[in-house]
Amino acid sequence: MKFKELAVYFQRLESISKRLDMTDILAELFQKASQDKKVNIEEIVYLSQGHLLPSFKNIEFQMSEKLIHKSIVLATGKPDELIEDMFQRIGDYGEVAQKLCKIYIENLSITDVYKKLTELVGFSGAGVVVKKTEFLADLLKSISPIEVKYIIRIILGKLRLGVGDPTFLDSLSLAYSGDKNLRKHLERAYNLCCDLGLVAKILFSEGIERIKGFEVIVGCPIRMALAARMPGAKEIIEKIGTCAVEAKYDGFRCQVHKNGKEIQVYSRNLENTTHMFPEIKEGTLAQVKNKNVIYEGEAIAYDPQTGECLPFQTTVQRKRKHGIASMRKLFPLKLFVFDLLYADGDLTDKSYEQRRKILTSVIGKGDVLEVSPVHIVKTARELENIFEESLREGREGIVAKRLDGVYKAGGRNFNWIKLKSSYSGELNDTIDCVIVGYYFGKGLRASLGLGSLLACVYDKKSETFKTIAKIGSGLTEDELVKFKKMLDKIKVNSKPPKVDSLIEPDVWVEPKYVIEVQADEITRSPVHTCGKAQDKDSGYALRFPRTVDKIREDKDAQDATTVNENINLFKMQGRKT
Ligand code: ATP
Repeated sequence: MKFKELAVYFQRLESISKRLDMTDILAELFQKASQDKKVNIEEIVYLSQGHLLPSFKNIEFQMSEKLIHKSIVLATGKPDELIEDMFQRIGDYGEVAQKLCKIYIENLSITDVYKKLTELVGFSGAGVVVKKTEFLADLLKSISPIEVKYIIRIILGKLRLGVGDPTFLDSLSLAYSGDKNLRKHLERAYNLCCDLGLVAKILFSEGIERIKGFEVIVGCPIRMALAARMPGAKEIIEKIGTCAVEAKYDGFRCQVHKNGKEIQVYSRNLENTTHMFPEIKEGTLAQVKNKNVIYEGEAIAYDPQTGECLPFQTTVQRKRKHGIASMRKLFPLKLFVFDLLYADGDLTDKSYEQRRKILTSVIGKGDVLEVSPVHIVKTARELENIFEESLREGREGIVAKRLDGVYKAGGRNFNWIKLKSSYSGELNDTIDCVIVGYYFGKGLRASLGLGSLLACVYDKKSETFKTIAKIGSGLTEDELVKFKKMLDKIKVNSKPPKVDSLIEPDVWVEPKYVIEVQADEITRSPVHTCGKAQDKDSGYALRFPRTVDKIREDKDAQDATTVNENINLFKMQGRKT
């Protein structure tokens, strides 16, 4: 199969926004590809996601727009100014190059292009910039304009076909069996390995039975289990009965994989953060004797003088790419381990009780890893007491866990229930919102260039972002300036196809950054689209929203609070205004 054919599929996908249509087009692509013996289906999956490998592998082209610009100059012989001028007008180097690169020599297959892109990523050492620029220029010279457009977008990390994971899974099922009934098995496998390419490869080469029996692979992150909310202790006990209660630590979620002496640490959004936390690597090697293990915990910075845990604002400083050794001395980390997913065998289908039992024998004594204490409670009173005690100890609240609950990868359900402070009455939990645009504002704010943000939550069903608030509070002047700079890098000319909005900001941006927002309450609103599909007359909005945490770097846009969570929070407020 030729890459040009894939590029035409990309163009078709880009021109539509309906999930069902996207599913059909992708299914057609996968079906066609699966009949071609020379095609590696995983390459199609990764390229369609705009990558060369699953994103947790952290493969980056390391080519800026400036370098792409140079490659286009080299490939086309056109003057710098002309290309710059076109870029200023069009705002997309993919399209600029498509218009200029008219020379067409080779007819490369998908695998040819994949190999060339892999080669491009691999360049290193002296003269790497020149090598990359020239290599790309040669590639641009040998392919057709439509291919040029998508290759440049992939290299710049701007492919953005708008296809979400559930759409990929539906289309794989459709391509393989003619209906979407296999989705649940494919989704389970995907949640266990976070590698859609691998899932597609196994499906088409080994069949659905292998997918049904898919097991965790040490080294591939597992999509993390998430906690649901309930208004209070009474409701929790009513829902799950006798349960285990652990303190809710306010740090970073870490999923640690130990494969012999190889250690990988993954964050909440599956980013590989191993290099940031050397003590977790050392602690795991020192305290875990089993050969292959996957466990999870929350990392918190502590004061080395007093041993006391430090607040999140301090812990967050450990998330950095540079200066790790000095920060480590200042604020070392402790990891409160709360779950075990693998110990020389897959444990995700075992009950919480069984996993915890094994956990205590797997984590040995030492300075970094500490198994989180757990209390088994039968009554709301007991749960309330532990909750209060947890707050007194400076924790964020508690997480109650069903004793017979399996580890539900990628799921937010009632196997885990978080309780932060009383959810009854006002809105006491924060909402994670995705920024989709901004307004210039008035007065001083206008002079800073940014007055307020248009914020969305995520609707899993339609894979779209629904507006919920316009946020003007919580950011200092410096932050407003910083936000503007950051958002201008991802601004787009019109409403992104994945955004559902009845209102129009001054500037639209690609849904990328997640911010934590505090509000007085959730109210009904005809202006916002959050929840409108559920109730045609009115959506939901945040009243008096303000940002509390700037950017939640551990969350991708799709990890924002969902529409359904907002509706549940609204109901928990105990009133329907
Ligand atoms: P979520 O991760 O649920 O999307 P969030 O990132 O905003 O939401 P919270 O709502 O505060 O986080 O609560 C869930 C998080 O609490 C978990 O992802 C985990 O990082 C953290 N956590 C702290 N202590 C525990 C514990 N004992 N068991 C499970 N999770 C815990």
